[in-house]
Order: sequence, then C-alpha cells, then structure tokens
Amino acid sequence: MSYLLEKLEQEQMLKKDEWRELIANQSQHQEEATLKACRIRELEFGNKIYTRGLIEFTNYCKNDCYYCGIRRSNQRAERYRLTKEQILECTDIGYELGFRTYVLQGGEDVYYTDERVVEILKCIKTRHSDCAITLSIGEKSRKSYEAFFEAGADRYLLRHETGDKTHYETLHPKTMSFEQRKNCLRTLKDIGYQVGCGFMVGSPGQNVKMLAEDMLFIQELQPHMVGIGPFVVHHETPFRNQKSGSVEQTLYLLSLIRILKPNVLLPATTALGTMDPKGREKGILAGANVVMPNLSPTDVRKKYDLYDNKICTGDEAAECKFCLSNRVKAIGCKLVIDRGDAPGWRK
Ligand code: SAH
Repeated sequence: MSYLLEKLEQEQMLKKDEWRELIANQSQHQEEATLKACRIRELEFGNKIYTRGLIEFTNYCKNDCYYCGIRRSNQRAERYRLTKEQILECTDIGYELGFRTYVLQGGEDVYYTDERVVEILKCIKTRHSDCAITLSIGEKSRKSYEAFFEAGADRYLLRHETGDKTHYETLHPKTMSFEQRKNCLRTLKDIGYQVGCGFMVGSPGQNVKMLAEDMLFIQELQPHMVGIGPFVVHHETPFRNQKSGSVEQTLYLLSLIRILKPNVLLPATTALGTMDPKGREKGILAGANVVMPNLSPTDVRKKYDLYDNKICTGDEAAECKFCLSNRVKAIGCKLVIDRGDAPGWRK
C-alpha cells in the first residue's frame, strides 16, 4: 500500500515534495491510484457519466499561444464564426439528444463583445431554461464575467495551462500573464460560477516539479471541475517538432485529481480520445466522470483545429452521442440526462 496515496485520500492535500514524489514514481503507484480513483468515482456518482454538448462557436483568436492550432499567427487556419441562430440550432439539436449542459467554447474573438455573448446566453436560457451553460472564452474583466453570470452562464472553464510561471512563459507570448490567468480563475470563483481550471499533460518543457505546482494550484483554488488532456502537436505551430504528451501519465494524473477532490467534475477529454482510440473509456476507468461530445455543425468541426488528428470531426452530433453512449455502456457506466452540477452548488 502506498503511504502517499493513503495520505492524499485521508487529508485531501499533499505538500509540494510529496506531490513530486508521487508524480515521479508513477509506475510504483499507478495501479493503486486507479483502483482508489475508480472506487471514489463510484461512491460519489454511481455509474453515472455526465455529458456536456460542446459548441465550438468561433475559431478567431487574438491570442498566440505557442501550442494551439487556432493561434492568431496560424495563417493557414480557415476562420469561422457561428451566428446566434446557428448556435441556437445546435442547442435545440442537443436538447433533443438529451443534453442539459452546453459548453460555448471559442478563441478570444473580439467580434463576440459582451453584448453579443449576453444576448446569446439569454436566448439559450429562454429556450432551454432547464439547461446549464458553461462558457470557455478565455480571459475577461470582472465586469464581463459578472455580466455573463447574470445573463445565465453557470460555469466557466479556463485552464490555467501550467502551474509554473516560468513554464507558462515558454508556452505563451509576453502579452499573456500567468498571474492574470490565475486571477481570472479566482474572480470567476468569487462571482459564484462553477469553475474549471486545468492543464495540458506533456506540454513542451514540462517536468514533475511543474506538475506538482499544478496539483498545488488545484488544492489552492478548489475548483469544481478540472480539465486535463495530453498536449497534442499541431503542425502549424512553433511546437510542430515537439513530442505529444503521454496517455498513461494523463490517466495517472486523472486518478490523482479524483483522489484529491472526490466530487470534482472531471472530463475524459477529446485530446485523450485523440491520442488513444480507447482514451475516453480509459479516462473514465481512471476516475473521470464527464464526457463532452461535439454539437458543433459538421461543416465547421475540422476548422476548430486546436491540434492534429482531432477525433469526431466528421460526425453528426447524434452519431457522437450514440457512439459515446455505447462506449460508456461497454465499461459498465451510463450517460445520464442531467445538468450534472457540482455537488452542493447553488446559483
Ligand atoms: N480560448 C479559450 C479556449 C481555449 S481552447 C481559453 O483561452 O480558455 C481549450 C483548451 O484546449 C486550452 O485551454 C488548451 O488547454 C487546450 N489546447 C489547445 N491547444 C492544444 C494542443 N495543441 N494540445 C492539447 N490541448 C490543447
């Protein structure tokens, strides 16, 4: 039995050196971590897996993150943005398919002013008042976050990307700041959102010390959700010659996060499914309890090209839902029709 895993389960926190040791000695701890994480997921959520319908509504972006395929400098990216009507149509299709959460994700697109985002939020809430809305549109002012919250947004995903300042600066241009990113997350939490942070596993230059910082940041922020997935190379970015992250390490970290925060909402991500045909199933078996199938119109799917070989870019929303539903069943779980809020959260 692993003393560190026991301690993590009991105290739901570790010190930095302990995290480093736990993360560095993956081969020694992984089997036990997987078992514990799976057991905790079952205790907290039974065999229920929550779904979120992902609507990738714009790939215009003013940022230039070195890892991301829709970065501003990628001249080859074919840019698109969905109209309000198209977004609403996605939500209608999603509703019929049993989705009760929509995730509006996009690049940081200046066309989508606060007014436009607010209008979209209100329209979705009018049509589907029993659904939760998650925004994932990057760094904004407190005022904007408050306006979105008032207009109906319930959750916000903003991955911190890495818990280490120096590492953050090697993944982003000087115009972006590590402190600013973390402050946005604190602000979102303060406003009352269900908040998701997260990071890429195996991004260029990442080491065990940095991953320990990621875990410490999760301990500090106490987010409701944590999104992690392997870094996947995109051929039109400065990281084109780097290696992608490891599936096994991602699975291990998913388990550690589940043990650290027993009731956290933890997706088995598309990036994980991209790196391994059974990635999402493996993610669930490592402790994840959320999947995020795509609701974006098929003709734009390929254009939301964050990394190479992204899966499900040719499928209709219904096919994605059906496929995931079968995959989840095959491992003894079931997709549920439910908003899937963080336990205990009230707006
Ligand atoms: N503009 C929004 C949404 C970004 S895309 C924001 O800033 O939050 C959502 C996530 O995709 C990012 O946070 C990043 O962690 C992930 N991502 C981007 N490029 C990636 C890559 N090459 N490999 C794996 N994940 C990537």
